[in-house]
Amino acid sequence: EDVRQKYVKDKKLGEGTYAVVFLGYLRNDPASKVAIKKIKVNAEYKDGLTMDAIREVKYLQELSHPNVIALHDVFSSKDQNLNLVLEFLPRGDLEMLIKDSDIQYGLADIKAWMGMLARGVWFCHENFVLHRDIKPNNLLIASDGEVKLADFGLARSFADPYLNMTHQVITRWYRPPELLYGRDNTPVPWTYDQISKICDAFGTPTEANWPGVSKLPNYIPTDPASIVPLQGREFFYRQFPTAGPVGADLLMAMCSLDPRNRITAVEALRHHWWTIDPRPTRNEDLPQKQ
Ligand code: ADP
Repeated sequence: EDVRQKYVKDKKLGEGTYAVVFLGYLRNDPASKVAIKKIKVNAEYKDGLTMDAIREVKYLQELSHPNVIALHDVFSSKDQNLNLVLEFLPRGDLEMLIKDSDIQYGLADIKAWMGMLARGVWFCHENFVLHRDIKPNNLLIASDGEVKLADFGLARSFADPYLNMTHQVITRWYRPPELLYGRDNTPVPWTYDQISKICDAFGTPTEANWPGVSKLPNYIPTDPASIVPLQGREFFYRQFPTAGPVGADLLMAMCSLDPRNRITAVEALRHHWWTIDPRPTRNEDLPQKQ
């Protein structure tokens, strides 16, 4: 059966840097709804869009979890672009909610959203899938309020592998220090700025608090006079008073500079914070865009 014939493309839903997204439906079920994401495959990649590459993306099709966007099908169109048939998620993304000053949300809402994110990440890692670009704009919201991890880097890397580092609009605030210091991170001006912001906020990575850090390919030594000591619990509590002391403890564990000391998704889910008041808001009561 030809996957291309299985779906009908409808109106355009939106356009991002790497893709055009259409509403679509199953040819044999006109009431169904899917999102067809057509990745603008970079010309130099077109020949490389082999079955191997598609097979890698197709692995995501095997993953099924309420907090991971469902990938129903993958096909390459006649113009050799990569088409992803995705679960239709009509309620926008978390970034839209955060940026909308008309929307009020509190700790119980944050706890609900964070729980859905943590469960999605846990499930991916359990299945040896790394997302590589988690940020509010990649957390899409289903009609029932469920938050889903979307936009896996694997598919996007076909569009332009360099865009991440050079394109202004790409958010860089969520990169952990080991990636900023890592081999794959070609240092660009903002790398230094980003690293110094992390050092100022959380403390400077040193051989004492992160054994081996100075051997990382793009490690940037800090003048001993400017070393900021590692921040403790009180700092996190002061910065994020809404989280409460227990929530601040979880944040500190998630923001450990040395990735070996950083809490894993499953450890985060076992944290005491989830069980104390306030309990997470139920999906149907979560704030949403108008
Ligand atoms: P970006 O995330 O940079 O906006 P995308 O290419 O991922 O770019 O998506 C473009 C637009 O298409 C989004 O802003 C959103 O409005 C819409 N969209 C993307 N994926 C879906 C989906 N699964 N369901 C519904 N709409 C979607």
